[in-house]
Amino acid sequence: MRTVPHYINGATVTAPGELPVFNPATGEVTSRVPLPSTHVVDEVVATARAAWATWRNSSLSQRTNVLFAFRHMLVQHTDELAALITAEHGKTIVDAKGEIARGLENVEYACGLTEHLKGGFSSQVADGVDVHSFRESLGVVAAITPFNFPIMVPLWMAANALATGNAVVLKPSERDPSVSVRLAELLSEAGLPAGVFNVLQGNAATVNQLLSHEGVDAVSFVGSTPVARHVYLTATEHGKRVQALGGAKNHMVVLPDADLEIAADAAINAGYGAAGERCMAISVVVAVGDIADALVAKIAERVDRLTVGPGDDPASDYGPVITDEHRQRVLSYLTDPGAGVRVVRDGSDLATRPGFFVGPCLLDNVTPGTRAYDDEIFGPVLGVARVATFADAVAMINENPYGNGTAIFTRDGNAARLFSRQVSVGMIGVNVPIPVPVSSYSFGGWKNSLFGHAHIYGPEGISFYSRAKVVTTRWPLASESQIDLGFPRTR
Ligand code: NAD
Repeated sequence: MRTVPHYINGATVTAPGELPVFNPATGEVTSRVPLPSTHVVDEVVATARAAWATWRNSSLSQRTNVLFAFRHMLVQHTDELAALITAEHGKTIVDAKGEIARGLENVEYACGLTEHLKGGFSSQVADGVDVHSFRESLGVVAAITPFNFPIMVPLWMAANALATGNAVVLKPSERDPSVSVRLAELLSEAGLPAGVFNVLQGNAATVNQLLSHEGVDAVSFVGSTPVARHVYLTATEHGKRVQALGGAKNHMVVLPDADLEIAADAAINAGYGAAGERCMAISVVVAVGDIADALVAKIAERVDRLTVGPGDDPASDYGPVITDEHRQRVLSYLTDPGAGVRVVRDGSDLATRPGFFVGPCLLDNVTPGTRAYDDEIFGPVLGVARVATFADAVAMINENPYGNGTAIFTRDGNAARLFSRQVSVGMIGVNVPIPVPVSSYSFGGWKNSLFGHAHIYGPEGISFYSRAKVVTTRWPLASESQIDLGFPRTR
């Protein structure tokens, strides 16, 4: 049985495999992932620290060259990387390539590091005094990532962390760990010095050691809300800079004036794509006014046309969910969705196939207080909530504890503008159901979808992975010699 290696100090390091990694399309165990001892965790952090001592002083042009070469390699190896993702995650090859493309954007953004790291200069802030600022790296960044985007989320973190001069220890999800090792190999081939980017396989215990490790300076986490909260509280208690992105329950509001065909298409694409295992998936469609019956009918008609199958079959619209355990959890929302919820489409019949498949499920009349509405299901289960007015829709979103993404479908520009201003959510789409910002903006939710203030990637990513120094300079002439015990003043 194949064992997924660590990647430490520029080379793969094998260790006895422990946790199973499945092919979710067949249900078979395809490899095992090691759980590092505390000694190995210490060794990786020490390696990264030693490498940082040199990398932090690398020239900006050296870093840019590495990132440009890495970008080229990601493009060249897209097919291979996509196949690796599909084999362990289960998403379709097309979707895996989409994920690589969105990760690539972050590398391209980081290639502009000479611009991003420009400081400021103010001449003559006081007589003969100038001030300039610049930014420096933090040290060792622990990057802890979820299963659902095994290459994009590591790139959200690594591209800017490396560009700003940090060393990285990536702890990928133990469920689909292989592509992270390939990522590390490509970075090495692109010229990144050994030890600057390391992959440490492992589970919660590995994460917990990193959160309190004295050799770790900052933690970037993406995963579920309970773990994000734990990571934020623990790592900040240990004095680290932390951004911890959590789970989601994303609402898509459809106003009565919307084109219902376009809205139904969007609900299908954003609700069932990647088997609903996206943090920006739409999980609740909020039908406003009297359109609900027509909208549910249009969505149901599209659900019936979906093909669910292995991710490497071009005919599949979406693939399996990540594990059998997760499949059982998802199916429990059909048998027990909560009082008053109507099951319009039940996808549980696919559960008899080998692999971890769940057919598309559609629920109507989901309301706050029902399991189907309150929980992040993270599967191909779309709920429809019915409200009377625009204000009711906004109130529902604002009372929800999550605030990652939301969307509105309408032809009314003013309603869309009011919506953008009134919702307590970080990322908003207007007739766009999955509003993941492009890499020159930053990505982040509000409320229980983000712990810490910094959004990830883009300008906030550069800021998160670096810290400012401000230098005040004076070159006095000998003739200006004087004793003055007063507080330094500019006027
Ligand atoms: P998860 O929280 O189970 O795991 C994420 C990482 O944390 C993994 O590396 C895992 O090994 C580690 N981990 C798990 N339990 C831990 C614990 N108790 N203590 C310390 N570390 C622990 O998440 P997942 O199931 O891999 O990913 C799906 C979740 O991630 C969903 O909730 C989804 O919404 C969320 N997500 C959020 C975003 C975002 O940008 N907000 C993006 C992608 C995924």
